[in-house]
Amino acid sequence: MLRTHTCGELRMAHVGQTVTISGWVQGLRDKGSLLWIDLRDRYGISQITIETENSPKELVDIARTLGREYVISVTGNVAERYSKNNKIPTGDIEIYPDKITVLNSSVIPPFTIEDETDGGDDIRMKYRYLDLRRNPVRKNLELRHRMAIETRNYLDKLNFLEVETPVLIKSTPEGARDFVVPSRMNQGEFYALPQSPQTFKQLLMVGGFDRYYQIVKCFRDEDLRADRQPEFTQIDCEMAFVEQEDILNTFEGLVRHLFKIVKGIDIPPLTRMTYADAMKYYGNDKPDIRFDMKFVELKNTSQNSPLRVYPEHLSKESGVRGEAFPIFDKAELVIGICAKGAADYTRKQLDELTEFVKRPQIGASGLVYARYNSDGTIKSSVDKFYNEADLKKWATAFNAQPGDLILILAGEKHKTRKALSELRLEMGTRLELRDKNTYACHWVIDFPLLEWNDETQRWHAMHHPFTSPKPEDIELLDITPGTVRANAYDMVINGVEVGGGSIRIFNKQLQARMFELLGFTKEQAQAQFGFLMNAFEFGAPPHGGIAFGFDRLCSLFGGADVIRDFIAFPKNNSGRDVMIDSPSVISQEQLDELGIVLKK
Ligand code: ASP
Repeated sequence: MLRTHTCGELRMAHVGQTVTISGWVQGLRDKGSLLWIDLRDRYGISQITIETENSPKELVDIARTLGREYVISVTGNVAERYSKNNKIPTGDIEIYPDKITVLNSSVIPPFTIEDETDGGDDIRMKYRYLDLRRNPVRKNLELRHRMAIETRNYLDKLNFLEVETPVLIKSTPEGARDFVVPSRMNQGEFYALPQSPQTFKQLLMVGGFDRYYQIVKCFRDEDLRADRQPEFTQIDCEMAFVEQEDILNTFEGLVRHLFKIVKGIDIPPLTRMTYADAMKYYGNDKPDIRFDMKFVELKNTSQNSPLRVYPEHLSKESGVRGEAFPIFDKAELVIGICAKGAADYTRKQLDELTEFVKRPQIGASGLVYARYNSDGTIKSSVDKFYNEADLKKWATAFNAQPGDLILILAGEKHKTRKALSELRLEMGTRLELRDKNTYACHWVIDFPLLEWNDETQRWHAMHHPFTSPKPEDIELLDITPGTVRANAYDMVINGVEVGGGSIRIFNKQLQARMFELLGFTKEQAQAQFGFLMNAFEFGAPPHGGIAFGFDRLCSLFGGADVIRDFIAFPKNNSGRDVMIDSPSVISQEQLDELGIVLKK
């Protein structure tokens, strides 16, 4: 080996030893009589010190030719430093070299290879191999490695088998487009890359494997939203002879294990929330419950909920004449949140919030606020329409205390809930209630089985077509398909969906009925999924499973927002690998061989 030690391991205990270390030149300081080299490898940095006057000329000459990122090997004596550096673990020692060998030179790197770099995203991605030398990137990949090892440890102890499933397959519908691969030997035919190993893991259950997992690449050709990768990794799992409860417990155990071992955190038992409650109280199927701020409805015409928004002093009995607030009057839903302790928000801050909700992505037409001042008075942006007594009633509905700020949106119910969900998250951020190092994990359960799509005018599977309806809801399939609940669940951490799965259909007739509901003809269903439905005829056991988004789970554990930083060679937001420049054109010969004629 070209080293006896790494650059990160030398301590006082090594003083007096002759060692050889190898690595990259992080920096060089030449003070004339003294010359220092910081040598870096994956494990840390060691300081090499040369007293130029007392050292052989060749050694000093070599040292003076070095540049940043040269790869060198140094043999020398470990000594105690005069002035210690307590910022690095090797800061007590330095090495006096007898020999420096240049293993390779380097051109000047296009950005500084330090924790805080001057390189922007694009340049770092183009030279990702240099970016990988930086501590933050390295640490993220080390975390990823640990997460993978600990996932395997946990599942292995529970008898799960890691089984590889094919990558060249046939389409599985998970709601995205497939990436396809042309077949040279079967011209005009294509493989699809798996959006997930869904059907294979179910077939493994039919095959008697009873507990399967795989840390596996999946591919989805989606229009790339920020922070989506066309290829990503799942911890994919399936179990036979289980009910929903068993899956929830087993995989709560997995995240608990990961938090404990990887982060040293004991997380509290995961709470469970139905999809219906998630939508009602948070406007969102993956609520961030690090903070409360639940929605309070003032008016909901579809549910005939108490109508508190009609100004009381304008009621018939009061005899006072005046106008009701037209926006609330017309709205299907009037709904709000109470931001604790935010009554002192300035006009400017409130205007910012109004601008925020009016942005096209959020789409609210305006924001109504009521400040419950600490002196007990309430002032609102609709004082013209509501008197203090009306506003006090709102305060009671919101459980607001003096010092709180009530924020209200009104309009069409779905849009308004969605907008308020964004406003809630924004307020959570502004009030610093979303600390990255606090983890709130929970399950969202009882998802609807189907979702109506206005564009295609048909039902779509909310999870995927293999998800089983709740047995008690099956009879509703023929009456009100939209109200059928599924045995489907998501795990949510800090408002991020980290995993999802379901108990599966394992009966051929029910699976066929499901395809029918989704608009497949019998022939189409047989052509695409005949293999699965046929397998169900050979004694398929009851089964269910889950898959976690591994990249996202790693980024959450790393306290970061972007998954790209946890992938060694990620693609950019347009799905390109800018380092190898892919996707790229292929040669005419390749096209001919594949029988592909490109449109001009
Ligand atoms: N295959 C599903 C997914 O990728 C997960 C599951 O149902 O197990 O979301």
